[in-house]
Amino acid sequence: MAEKPHIVMLPTPGMGHLIPLIGFAKDLVHSHDLAITLIVLTIGPPTNAQKDLLHALPGTIKPILVPPVSSQPEMNAFVAITRSMSSIRHVFKSLVDSNRPRALVIDLLTTDVLDVAMEFNIPSYVYFPSSALSLALMFDLPTLDETVSCEFKDLPEPMKLPGSVPVHGRDFPAELQDRSKDEYKWLLNQAKRYRIAKAAVLFVSFGSGGTLSLEQLNELALGLEMSEQRFLWVVRPPNEMSAMGSYYDSQNNKEPLSFLPQGFLDRTEEKGLAVPSWAPQMEILGHGSTGGFLTHCGWNSVLESIANGVPMIAWPLYAEQRMNAVLLTEGINVALRPTVNQKGVVEREEIAKVIKCLMKGDQGLIIPEEMSKYKDAAAKAVSESGSSTKALSQLVVK
Ligand code: UDP
Repeated sequence: MAEKPHIVMLPTPGMGHLIPLIGFAKDLVHSHDLAITLIVLTIGPPTNAQKDLLHALPGTIKPILVPPVSSQPEMNAFVAITRSMSSIRHVFKSLVDSNRPRALVIDLLTTDVLDVAMEFNIPSYVYFPSSALSLALMFDLPTLDETVSCEFKDLPEPMKLPGSVPVHGRDFPAELQDRSKDEYKWLLNQAKRYRIAKAAVLFVSFGSGGTLSLEQLNELALGLEMSEQRFLWVVRPPNEMSAMGSYYDSQNNKEPLSFLPQGFLDRTEEKGLAVPSWAPQMEILGHGSTGGFLTHCGWNSVLESIANGVPMIAWPLYAEQRMNAVLLTEGINVALRPTVNQKGVVEREEIAKVIKCLMKGDQGLIIPEEMSKYKDAAAKAVSESGSSTKALSQLVVK
């Protein structure tokens, strides 16, 4: 009999985290034919309340207790999670070997585990059992950290977080009250890492006709492979004469995939998909799993990426695309741009470095936050009462 689709859940230590995630797991198995493994981190030996809760789980939810990291109950979650990482990796590996999980669900503070999911190429999701206001704060925290120089509690005015009443800094969580402390840095890092959950796929496409030289095609393939990130690549046959080689001839009869480096498709089978010549770009950019877009910076592609809030890697080829790339990287900070060597080639190491930086959300990278602002602004501009809609209707009425 085929095994049920398998999901792994991993809550932050403590009953206040275990109870809501178990509630969510029960809802899922009640309405879907799934198997769930609950990895339970314990600080000291499990309490009776914990044992009772785990004992009462239905057969479709299987708990695995990670060995306690300490007998000191006063140890905080942040230390406990860090110390449990090697045991978590071990448990994860055995789960991958038995019934490969389709997804990892973490909760508020276990984002370190996202790295393990990425290592095994498993998409991850954050379950956030707290108020939308707390979530808005987590999403805004990296920006607040960049823009506010004093302690939040010393700001004279309350802060306006998206979609909420203004909140004074002194009412922020305890970890945010002293920015010099490790707890602050830890929570800030958690907030930054929310952005990497689920976005495991990079979309690579050079518009309706962009082409690369054979050498560049080879470097891109090897750079994608070195990055170890998931990708979906629209591949065109190489062209040594022109970067817009397929613009008027996107259906030429050469087999694009035959130009890829030997063994590349086999080696990347688990991580990537190369499709010849054309893919439904709008649908792909609108899919929740698309976390980055390596684009030639054609203006349609740029707008489609911004409308869907997908951060970019700017790889301009022809026409006004170099100017677009400058605007995206230096103007509005929603893209990274790889460096081209003296021969005009972007080398594999550079490609891998930039892809990893974007997809793994390197510390200090503010592109995802900036992108979400532009996504919102774009949606507003084309809404019924938005500036773009109004300007167009005023023009039509004139
Ligand atoms: N496009 C697509 N699938 C592909 C390649 C391109 O649907 O595999 C679409 C893309 O969504 C965009 C257009 O083709 O709407 C390309 O326009 P853009 O201005 O980005 O680049 P150009 O092709 O004009 O250089």
